[in-house]
Amino acid sequence: MVNGNKATAAYNLSDKRVWVAGHRGLVGSALLRRLSRENVELLTAGKNVLDLRRQQDVEDWVKREKPEVVFVAAAKVGGIRANSTRPADFIYDNLMIEANVIHAAFRYGVEKLVLLGSTCIYPKLAPQPIPEEALLTGPLEATNEWYAVAKIAGIKLVQAYRRQHGCDFISAQPTNLYGPGDNFDLETSHVLPALMRKAHDAKREGASAMSVWGTGTPLREFLHVDDLADALVFLTRNFSDEAPINVGSGAEISIRGLANAIRDVVGYQGDLIFDASKPDGTPRKLADISKLEGMGWRPRIGLGEGLASTYDWFLANVANEATGTVASA
Ligand code: GDP
Repeated sequence: MVNGNKATAAYNLSDKRVWVAGHRGLVGSALLRRLSRENVELLTAGKNVLDLRRQQDVEDWVKREKPEVVFVAAAKVGGIRANSTRPADFIYDNLMIEANVIHAAFRYGVEKLVLLGSTCIYPKLAPQPIPEEALLTGPLEATNEWYAVAKIAGIKLVQAYRRQHGCDFISAQPTNLYGPGDNFDLETSHVLPALMRKAHDAKREGASAMSVWGTGTPLREFLHVDDLADALVFLTRNFSDEAPINVGSGAEISIRGLANAIRDVVGYQGDLIFDASKPDGTPRKLADISKLEGMGWRPRIGLGEGLASTYDWFLANVANEATGTVASA
């Protein structure tokens, strides 16, 4: 039994039936890689088998499969453009997924649930680095408020089910993620895979320049998704509290700096053209990770190493697909 505020003793993951909801996504696939090193039984359900937006289907599945641990890595996610052009998808899909999975987990006795959010839940002008206490202290960044409002509702669901029903549910807020399995589609992706694809295409096409959205001045923090998966397993074992917990790398870089680092990794020597007609989004977004570090967890994968291995993955898995061109980006 837990209460709303107090952490409980370490949770024993051994021999548990663990459901990774959203196992084909960036986070879910990293969780499968990480959990395959643990003594657990992994459960997954592809989109063709289970639509997480349908309450009855989710309840039937949880009742039948009896997971003991659930990671809610399923979400409608996307970069700055997708968020602002498809607001209904971002708010509806995420609200439904969270509500259905959390309520089913409560009904069928799931022992531990970890809900994934994002640091974009915090106010646009939150103090930097952003402490967990900044939640709901100010207006959100407009370009992703649909997603953020849904994820804040998810945090509140976790808190409410802890308080009312004593469920050991927690929520983790990762910073901007990247790594193998990322979305490299220029219309919907986040900045890191978008710039990697643009640099790759520009190099291949012999283009003299590549476009970078906005002014290049916003600061972002990037965390390799394998570090996140490791942190989530750590939190499953060691964290039980109604407050969200940040997961980040502690290292920030400007969008211009990121574009240069990516050009180096890809080996592209052309210019950067900053397209000020595209939004910058929030000026700075650095998570305060002192709470997590205070528990003894540290990220291991630096940006240089992470970019290189992500580019290797891109070359092996995505490079030959025909999506996006430098000219239209
Ligand atoms: P955010 O962190 O929620 O703002 O989401 P993004 O990862 O989509 O964007 C981060 C920053 O990178 C914003 O300032 C974007 O304008 C900038 N950016 C530069 N080039 C690109 C690009 O090609 N795609 C995306 N998605 N963002 C870009």
